Amino acid sequence: MDPKDSRFSTQISHLALDIGGTLIKLVYFSPNGDNCEDGSIVVGNNGCSAVQGRLCFAKFETRKIDDCLDFIRLNILQHSGVHHPNGTESDKLSVKATGGGAFKFADLFKEKLGIVFDKEDEMHSLVCGVNFLLKTVPREAFTYLDGQKEFVQIDHNDLYPYLLVNIGSGVSMIKVDGDGKYERISGTSLGGGTFLGLGKLLTKCKSFDELLELSHQGNNRVIDMLVGDIYGGTDYSKIGLSSTAIASSFGKAISDGKELEDYQPEDVARSLLRMISNNIGQIAYLNALRFGLKRIFFGGFFIRGLEYTMDTISVAVHFWSRGEAKAMFLRHEGFLGALGAFTSYKDQSHTNDLKPHHHTVERAVLKCSDDDSFRHIPVSANVNDGEAIEFRRLETTVATSPRILHRNQVYHSSFVEEEGITKACGCPLLPLKSHIKGPAPVSEQDRTDIVDEAITFFRANVFFTNFPIKSPADKLLIYLTFYINVALKRLEGCRTLAVGTKAIINLGLEDIPVPGETGFPFPGLFSLPSSQEEADLFRNYLKQVREETSGRLLSVAYRANGTPNKWWLAFAKRKFINVVLL
Ligand code: ADP
Repeated sequence: MDPKDSRFSTQISHLALDIGGTLIKLVYFSPNGDNCEDGSIVVGNNGCSAVQGRLCFAKFETRKIDDCLDFIRLNILQHSGVHHPNGTESDKLSVKATGGGAFKFADLFKEKLGIVFDKEDEMHSLVCGVNFLLKTVPREAFTYLDGQKEFVQIDHNDLYPYLLVNIGSGVSMIKVDGDGKYERISGTSLGGGTFLGLGKLLTKCKSFDELLELSHQGNNRVIDMLVGDIYGGTDYSKIGLSSTAIASSFGKAISDGKELEDYQPEDVARSLLRMISNNIGQIAYLNALRFGLKRIFFGGFFIRGLEYTMDTISVAVHFWSRGEAKAMFLRHEGFLGALGAFTSYKDQSHTNDLKPHHHTVERAVLKCSDDDSFRHIPVSANVNDGEAIEFRRLETTVATSPRILHRNQVYHSSFVEEEGITKACGCPLLPLKSHIKGPAPVSEQDRTDIVDEAITFFRANVFFTNFPIKSPADKLLIYLTFYINVALKRLEGCRTLAVGTKAIINLGLEDIPVPGETGFPFPGLFSLPSSQEEADLFRNYLKQVREETSGRLLSVAYRANGTPNKWWLAFAKRKFINVVLL
């Protein structure tokens, strides 16, 4: 972001910093709040407090610390009426700061801005930050499992003990027993820094956002060795391991006989994200077990509200604890330390222009924030290098289909009635409104068929990583949702209907694998064919239903004038489903 951004040109006071190994996080109070972006916390609205405004958040990459200095100089110091650097020692401003960078960069801030750091301990700040959020900001904590986000009501009298897992460059695990009562019980060096560092080396990505974007499109099964790979496609049910469980992260690379360049970078990124998240989830659970803790809060900028990361961590905690322990996430996850440093102002009396009234702020939030007027997305107010803001991007995508904004369950097929329907490989060969040759019975034209369902539900269902199957028709719905996803990817670069049609025709010419054959997308979703006849029947049905879907997809993905419909093609970027729950 341009540090001279005019949105930040009104008065901003009360600042705290958390300078980490990778990112610098800022929390500041803005009286009018106009200059805050998503993620800010409303303070004292409804006129119930003298303090009104917003707590705003910003982040910068530590390696681009000059941008952060410019931001503070232009948007905070200047509007606090402070002009430096030539003031005397007594003019120096004292600002709360935490994280290793509070030590490392103390001289730089003093020299460039005349700011003297009043250092706060990192762990202490993290704990204070979480306690502040949990006690003050409603709908802060949530669980995320099976694609469902649920806010957790926190009973202030029953908050402790809990485990805080902060995933920054490295990972700290802190047992919290009360306000100011905590102990760092564990940690791991395999954290966000490992993901970013290894990811950069392995995929040549330049930034975290690029790496995440890439991982969205990847498939970890290409490189991870699954239980099914070892057990010939079956579960190891005796010890409760499904065929899709990862037996060895990156394990396939041992015997594939491939070099790094032979793998798609997106698959590498996906496996890496999975490996790091899984490992942290498991270590967190083991530490929770050590101390009998049932609640685990995950914070740190690594999470970034990313569904896949949260889902992997939640599944790891749920799996290992057999459902006993709960992984919880925080909307302001990345700013825990900075918020903690901010709250520490309340114990002091400052005389300079950055004097915060934090105690009042906290009370104001407590009293007044039971409405939902603050934003829901934990983002920073700025990103230095113009990277898209991840959480906003996610919301923007969701908003393309208003119907699904608050949906937290998949849409299921309505074809639950199986009577009289032929099956192949356990899949009902449902009637189609189709003139295309094939084994599907003909459906009446005015009735909804499975292709209608797949297209209508696509933009909602594609957001889910897990799809609980309620009927055999759901399996076909999953298959078609996947197919639409594939087809949209082919259409992505096609600027006209004519070019798109050609791409889809080419897709139709490709071999259509059936269960048991290489390339079938969901091993285990359908049963294996018991004869060549059954295999051929299923292949022909899939061919017919895919062709029908392609035709109808083209009519929604392109407008009448032949130009692409961005509300559809934007979904080419999505990657549907990782785990199918049977
Ligand atoms: P630290 O205090 O150690 O810098 P953070 O909580 O700020 O830790 O998290 C840093 C981690 O967050 C990085 O290692 C990376 O995995 C992740 N991350 C999220 N967004 C970004 C970004 N825009 N740039 C760099 N890393 C990011």
